[in-house]
Amino acid sequence: MATTDTEKHGFQAEVKQLLDIVIHSLYTDKEIFVRELVSNAADALEKLRLKQLKEKNVVDADIPLEINITTDEENNTLTISDAGIGMTRAELQQNLGTIAHSGTKAFLQQLKDKGESNADVIGQFGVGFYSAFMAADEVEVHTHSWDSEEGEHLVWTSDGSTGYTIEESSEVQRGCRMVLKLKEDQAEFAKTETIKAILEKYSTFVSFPINLNGEKVNKVEALWLKSKSDISKEEYSEFYKFVAGAWDEPRYTMHFSADAPLAINSLLFVPQENQEQFGMGQMEAGVSLYCRKVMIEAKPKNLLPDWLRFLKGVIDSEDLPLNISRESMQDSALIQKLNKLITKRYLKFLEKQAKDDSEKYEEFFSKFSRFLKEGIATSFEHQEALAKLLRFESTMTEVGKVTSFADYVDRAKDDQNEIYYLVGASREVIENGPYLEAFKARGIEVAIFTDAVDQYVFDTMPEFKGKKLVSADRADIELDDVATDGEALDEVALASLTEWMAEALGERVEKVEAGKRLVDSPVAALAPQEAPNAQMRAMMKAMGQDAPEPKVVLEVNPRHEVIKNLSALKESDEELASMVTQQLTDNALLAAGMMDNPQKMVNRMNDLLGKIVK
Ligand code: ADP
Repeated sequence: MATTDTEKHGFQAEVKQLLDIVIHSLYTDKEIFVRELVSNAADALEKLRLKQLKEKNVVDADIPLEINITTDEENNTLTISDAGIGMTRAELQQNLGTIAHSGTKAFLQQLKDKGESNADVIGQFGVGFYSAFMAADEVEVHTHSWDSEEGEHLVWTSDGSTGYTIEESSEVQRGCRMVLKLKEDQAEFAKTETIKAILEKYSTFVSFPINLNGEKVNKVEALWLKSKSDISKEEYSEFYKFVAGAWDEPRYTMHFSADAPLAINSLLFVPQENQEQFGMGQMEAGVSLYCRKVMIEAKPKNLLPDWLRFLKGVIDSEDLPLNISRESMQDSALIQKLNKLITKRYLKFLEKQAKDDSEKYEEFFSKFSRFLKEGIATSFEHQEALAKLLRFESTMTEVGKVTSFADYVDRAKDDQNEIYYLVGASREVIENGPYLEAFKARGIEVAIFTDAVDQYVFDTMPEFKGKKLVSADRADIELDDVATDGEALDEVALASLTEWMAEALGERVEKVEAGKRLVDSPVAALAPQEAPNAQMRAMMKAMGQDAPEPKVVLEVNPRHEVIKNLSALKESDEELASMVTQQLTDNALLAAGMMDNPQKMVNRMNDLLGKIVK
């Protein structure tokens, strides 16, 4: 079988086509060829490790399972050697002379579909071994198969254009030694620093030692592939500091593995602090994507939803083709699947943390709640899981203590189909406003929200577990009747008063109606369902939009002294009664945070005082 002759071979047509593209396209990420060759070497070593377990006749059984890389600036070469399974003559022809790889075939198909000149497609696929020709104008593959029977000492040589030769070579150790004769303008890849930087970027976690010019470069273990019980807290912490470039201890650590529906090993950390809270601008994504310890992409944007950008760490999936690359990731169905799966899993993890140690969780929430709220507003599919994670004060919690929607629902009466909330500047402002009276009198809990983004959250979230989320300042809330002190104005007088008030107020109100919700206040201004309420208005103004004084529904408390007296006053002094009505409306708008121009009110107030102080 062995021959001393030089065997000449032509490349399969598809290989030629591929090489042509690789060499002539302006491929932006040239450095990835190092990653591709190192990962091939790691694969070959992994295969050998398995052979050693099963077979006895492995050649050169004693040489260590390592990858050795040497740079030679003088000769402008880069050499990558591994002690893996190597290749037989037939395998050389099969593996390096034809394309069996389905990803590469798909790549060529895409090229055909889109037209060969379409350079966009090129960046979308890694091209494995052939990527070596991006940087080299000649590649030698010295190889000696693990199989003692077929273990010839061979060298495959090609300039990456038409074909290759296979010759016998002397003294090849088991495995492969690839010598890249670099192109003149690619001399940077003969520099130690360049290669070191590339290895640190992509190959830190390769599980076999990688030595660069005799020095080991990959010192960090791929912790995420180890079993949880074998990892100490310190190791997690060290690893976090390494991947996040951090100095603090991780606040939360989630180590998660699954086999189905995707094979995933991931290790995700939450840092101590939310940097965005310190006004440091929006964070970038912090989780990198790996396939069997080899990095596919550092911190890609679409691997997780944007609102999980505070997470740091690693996601490794065996199901990813190694040659998936940046552009193709964007629309890869696989990445979307990963994204969804891990997000779901992460939210479950947080829910468990909240249950197991609520104090710790509340501290996390106080710093990172903005991200969860952003999630509610932007990821409909995770909305309910995120809503479960919200914490807030309510009319039934002590000041400074928080509760959740789940607890709210537990406390509410069975027939209460709504969850009431109010968004305001502070708990104090909300508690002193006019809207809580009615709920307090009926023992109904109102959730209190005080973050500027909360209104957006509710705008996108109509319900929680089938219970409608309703702002307690809405006009159309129906509350049960409740026994209240004091005699009310009789119905006839009340109807005449509200009609008269509506006329006196004209354009200022949508309508005036007697209501049951008020206890201590004479009137309240309610935002009609479709009108922006106080918080929305504040936001609109902050964004430079016009927020004209809304036409409110004015609710009148028929038991209040002022209202009862007003009913009489309108008969005896209609002008004064009208001024009082205007003033009551202003007071209500002011209390509701819907008053824009207090100047008019001050003038009227002075007139009113002039009438009284005589
Ligand atoms: P892929 O690795 O995606 O299959 P490549 O073009 O990178 O595609 O490699 C083609 C084949 O060549 C590999 O599947 C493998 O069988 C063989 N090969 C590449 N590098 C090595 C190596 N260092 N040792 C042994 N076999 C190798």
